[in-house]
Amino acid sequence: MSAQSDLSKIRNIGITAHIDAGKTTTTERILYYTGVSHKIGEVHEGNTTTDYMAQERERGITITSAAVTCDWKDHRINIIDTPGHIDFNIEVNRSLRVLDGAVFIIEGVAGVQPQSETNWRLADRYNVPRIIFINKLDRTGADFYRAFDTLKEKLDIIAIPLQLPIGAEDQFLGVVDLVEMKAIVWEGGELGAKFHDEEIPADLKEKAAEARQNLLDTALAVDEAAMEEYFENGDVSVETLKRCIKKGAISGEFRPVLCGTAFKNKGVQPLLDGIIDYLPAPNDVEGIRCAPPEGEDADENNQPILPVDPDGKFAGLAFKIINDKYGTLTFVRVYRGVLKTGDTVLNTTKGHKERIGRIYQMHADKREELTEVHAGDIAAFVGLKDTQTGDTLSDSSDPVVLERMSFPVPVIDIS
Ligand code: GDP
Repeated sequence: MSAQSDLSKIRNIGITAHIDAGKTTTTERILYYTGVSHKIGEVHEGNTTTDYMAQERERGITITSAAVTCDWKDHRINIIDTPGHIDFNIEVNRSLRVLDGAVFIIEGVAGVQPQSETNWRLADRYNVPRIIFINKLDRTGADFYRAFDTLKEKLDIIAIPLQLPIGAEDQFLGVVDLVEMKAIVWEGGELGAKFHDEEIPADLKEKAAEARQNLLDTALAVDEAAMEEYFENGDVSVETLKRCIKKGAISGEFRPVLCGTAFKNKGVQPLLDGIIDYLPAPNDVEGIRCAPPEGEDADENNQPILPVDPDGKFAGLAFKIINDKYGTLTFVRVYRGVLKTGDTVLNTTKGHKERIGRIYQMHADKREELTEVHAGDIAAFVGLKDTQTGDTLSDSSDPVVLERMSFPVPVIDIS
């Protein structure tokens, strides 16, 4: 089965951060390591993959940051842009609707900053499962433990380290992986530098054992079968521990924390593994809320949840519209069924029909044309004439209207 139609192999995620914490750099490294972008640029040169607008105007390719698709270990990761600036809270709000999980980046020197707090509360509102990445551990003044403490102090959460740093500042070498109890060390700071698994350094052994016990105590508490396994054997398998961490991350009972330095290329591959292991697939979460019936105010009882259903009739939500020189691209998150090129769908929000032209999935450096897109996935449609952000598209034989976003959102014009 292709990654596209196997729901368990899809991750729709956002990356959110206080400005300057390293969202662009981390995204760019992710695109590099997943193999879609080998022409990496540094932020200060103004040519990063995600810093796309000027570049794509020149090249005539839409490297849109609305949603970028990449592959990691047989999984498909759709990264949906969640703007970090406080002025863009409306945008953050909107994109949070369509993602199933998020990577929350804080930086190793300042820890949680005011804007991280705002974004955290917004993600809370939509129950978005999160893993946390403490970045910039190579910087002078960076301190994993202090940054970690700000998570508890400022966000009032149960944060739980899955890694401990090896070395600090310019001597930051890698991490102790507390799940598999091994050290991961990078050979240099260059892009593509190899990492290798090692024994946990002697001076960290005791600390690591303590941190692992803390991880077990917290994580296993969410799962009775895991607790039993623990009491019987005195430990649990890596698979069991990962399952518990994922369960806790999805329910929000605790928040797993990873660390590294995106800029110095340490920690990004384990972060990608973390996205696969701990953030939910589309069918691990409950689905999306429908709009209240016409004329009724929203309340808890009149907005049923539409679960992600690959076998139902098509339904999807338009979450971003971009005009480029090829025309209008409407980014849609599909919740139910399959949509094929040439299909006619009902815009249930507006009450008129639309015909789907070409369907694309956007990668960092190319657009891939698809013939169909399945529930759980994200794609850009060409040919929609009168669909706006927040509109529901649905098979006319089983129409649904998904909850509208509460703000009017402008179309981005980069033609
Ligand atoms: P964004 O505003 O969150 O997208 O942050 P950027 O990715 O643009 O990073 C802001 C600045 O921090 C840039 O100058 C990056 O080169 C730098 N930066 C990002 N990650 C790291 C890191 O891990 N270590 C160091 N030392 N600098 C970093």
